Amino acid sequence: MASGGPPNRNENLVAWLQYFDDLHIRGFYRDRISASGRIPAISPIAMNAAGQSGPSNPAPESSVPISQMPRPKNTVPISRAALAAASAQAAKTSPASKMTMMPIAGGPSLFESYERVANDSLERIREDIGDCTRCRLCERRNKIVFGAGNAKAELVFVGEGPGHDEDIQGLPFVGRAGKLLTDMIVAMGLTREAVYIANVVKCRPPENRVPERDEVATCAPFLMRQLEVIRPKVIVCLGNVAAQNLLGTNKSISSFRGQWFDFRGSKLLATYHPAYLLRNPAAKGDVWIDLKKVLVELGMPIPRNSPKR
Ligand code: URA
Repeated sequence: MASGGPPNRNENLVAWLQYFDDLHIRGFYRDRISASGRIPAISPIAMNAAGQSGPSNPAPESSVPISQMPRPKNTVPISRAALAAASAQAAKTSPASKMTMMPIAGGPSLFESYERVANDSLERIREDIGDCTRCRLCERRNKIVFGAGNAKAELVFVGEGPGHDEDIQGLPFVGRAGKLLTDMIVAMGLTREAVYIANVVKCRPPENRVPERDEVATCAPFLMRQLEVIRPKVIVCLGNVAAQNLLGTNKSISSFRGQWFDFRGSKLLATYHPAYLLRNPAAKGDVWIDLKKVLVELGMPIPRNSPKR
């Protein structure tokens, strides 16, 4: 191939371009990286050496909800190539080029596009979800786990999906991992009532498997609406599933945890899931470092003693 890339990647790229062309989506590379400042909804926040965040750009509205786009067979997400190119280009052209850009090459997020609802509220969103049967997760769930906490929270935690205890109680993070999350929140000098806790999917995946892409896509608009209503200063993604889906990346959380991203006007940071910490207590130190960054961002004091290991 003329471009010199691996043949598979080039074929995949051509397949994706053809696919988007079929959907009448054209020129999005140029749009995303243009000097007009239109960039993807989820963009790395430029940070200067002192760790201050640089300017972030408004998100463009996509005409076709990503969640409604089936992925062509045998392809890798175009996003990695597209956003890597966009990042490189943005680094060259934007005023933030003197700052360190967050090194994530993400893909189209399932959370980029959703229907905004005028005068929306958490109650209205719960009503709209109803006794949901939109995806197969309804078949074996016991209770829908909508989310819980302060509707005006400055801090929102987003996990993966309900487990056994959450499914029984209809509340997020109430099992063993939930107990650890509660300890983390308390160590920050906060309470569960002061923050908001939600998940990428609202019904328990059977045997706690990872939620499928279409299940996440079905549930995503409701989480987006919740975030839009709450408008938190900071969103903390707990674990790979939340982080990868919100940021639209296939990268492992270990490569970008603790870094700041812009998510539709909120700052987003990903850290390890409490369930991972139960298996790997040594990683608690990393999570505490991340949570201290959150406290700084919220303008809150950092408790003198780090939580017990
Ligand atoms: N794990 C999650 O990701 N979410 C919950 O609500 C509970 C456990």
